[in-house]
Amino acid sequence: MITDVSSLFSFPEGLHLESIELQCADLLLGVISTRSSSCCPLCAQASSQVHSRYQRTLRDVPCGSRKVVLRLCVRKFFCHNPDCTRKIFTERLPTFVEPWAQVTTRLFEAVQAIGLATSGELGTRLADRIGIHTSPTTLLRRIMVLARPLSLQVVYLGIDDWSFRRGHTFGTILVDLSTHTVIDLLPDRKAETAAAWMRKHAEIEIVSRDRGGEYASAAATGAPQAIQCADRFHILKNLGEALEGLLARHLVTKRKEKVQEILDEYASVWQPTRSVRRSPKLEHLQQARREGRLALYDQVVALRKQGLSQQAIAQRVGIGASTVSNWLAAGTFSERKPREQACRLDPYLPYVLKRWEEGCHNIACLFRELVDRGYKGSYASVYDPLVRLLPQGRKYAPGANVISPAPLSAREATFLFLRRPEELSAEEQETVLMLRQLHPEVNRMVDLAQQFVHMLRTRTGEQLDDWLAKVVVSQIPELQSFVLGIERDKAAVLAGLTLPHSNGVVEGKVNKLKLIKRMGYGRAGFPRLASASAPRTLEAEGDSFLRKGNPQRDGVALPKTIRKD
Ligand SMILES: [Zn+2]
Repeated sequence: MITDVSSLFSFPEGLHLESIELQCADLLLGVISTRSSSCCPLCAQASSQVHSRYQRTLRDVPCGSRKVVLRLCVRKFFCHNPDCTRKIFTERLPTFVEPWAQVTTRLFEAVQAIGLATSGELGTRLADRIGIHTSPTTLLRRIMVLARPLSLQVVYLGIDDWSFRRGHTFGTILVDLSTHTVIDLLPDRKAETAAAWMRKHAEIEIVSRDRGGEYASAAATGAPQAIQCADRFHILKNLGEALEGLLARHLVTKRKEKVQEILDEYASVWQPTRSVRRSPKLEHLQQARREGRLALYDQVVALRKQGLSQQAIAQRVGIGASTVSNWLAAGTFSERKPREQACRLDPYLPYVLKRWEEGCHNIACLFRELVDRGYKGSYASVYDPLVRLLPQGRKYAPGANVISPAPLSAREATFLFLRRPEELSAEEQETVLMLRQLHPEVNRMVDLAQQFVHMLRTRTGEQLDDWLAKVVVSQIPELQSFVLGIERDKAAVLAGLTLPHSNGVVEGKVNKLKLIKRMGYGRAGFPRLASASAPRTLEAEGDSFLRKGNPQRDGVALPKTIRKD
């Protein structure tokens, strides 16, 4: 049985619970301070002579989902230090509540923690569920007051950019590669900014960076003592791009050849379908129309002979003046040209054949795809010729002539080649073999790419020169630009292929940053990101970090109005 109810609320020593009252849905707690003395905030001298008492109303952390309001009775003390300018001061309760605050420190920190974990609207909803009433703005304000920790010592530095607004504004993220922590964020990705930061860190030994020139020159000027290490992820990405370019080139060529082949093969079948067979009924109707037109023509010619103007003839006969003019100018009755029976399907034919070849033999499905591509004809106008043109029975047997049963994109193919061969399934290995047969150039390129990847995975950078020589011999255009990039940045690439450090950690941190940014619903400005990404020790150190970052002690002005907690 608990005798002291105060302990249930975990008040600090010296605060005593006097009364509990239920007011609407809120819990109203009367709390009194029973400490015998308090220290003057100016001279730090303790005083026990009470000047007066007064009541503070504070919001506290919820209890059983009820809002908790504290009526805290505190005192004012005289300061007896003759050298101190302060004569009277209010009682301080350092760990429990800041002077002038309207919420307890623990409620402040709870809101801050929710904000750090979630942000904005989401955090507000979550807080509401657990009995804390707050607003998105307040949540963000709580995070903003967190002091950013001072830059720490860093020996292995990872540096990369992150996009603050995609494609528009970029920042720089700095990560300690040995502790896997974000050290700092810079508001841009300029070389000067990063170099200035590095200059303050003479302890840096290794800078792991992307392949961009900005960070290379930043490291060269800001940390000339450090070894630059090109990030393996980026090297691999560049290699992948080269490979993808080559595969795309060959796959497109192959596919074009294939479609042309089919078009040629079916040209004889297709052409006759275009001569439209007219029904007898239609022919009869057309004959009747021709006779009608001929009668009108004769009438126009007769009236003209009587000397009527073209305008008058048009009115009398009931046809357009321009038709009268055309007929008279022609001199003879002009037969209507047989209508051009151009098939609406024609422009879509290569697509249909390509899809058919890819294995889509469902005409309803093909029709929908054509409509999506702007086809205006009816379903029948697709169905009829296709049934004639592409008999259902005639399917393409997967064989020597086929690129692949399910056509692979160049990117998918690239991933197949860059993965560890032993991790590929039997089916994938078959695809790899088939792709290699596309062209001798593809086969050579794949060999070279796999050698490079092996070098990268086994950190055997000493083979780089041999590899580069082989590439030059191969004459593959897509690889030449990759090689040029390596030559420009050779020392760093060599370090990247040899040393264990890599920017993988940095990429992870950038992803976390993006998450924070998205959750901020557009309110997450740079300072917000900087404060939210910096307290990485939050999980590790619990709330002690938050205390360290206490705005009052750090001299950071707390927003005057703290209303909605
Ligand atoms: Zn004093």
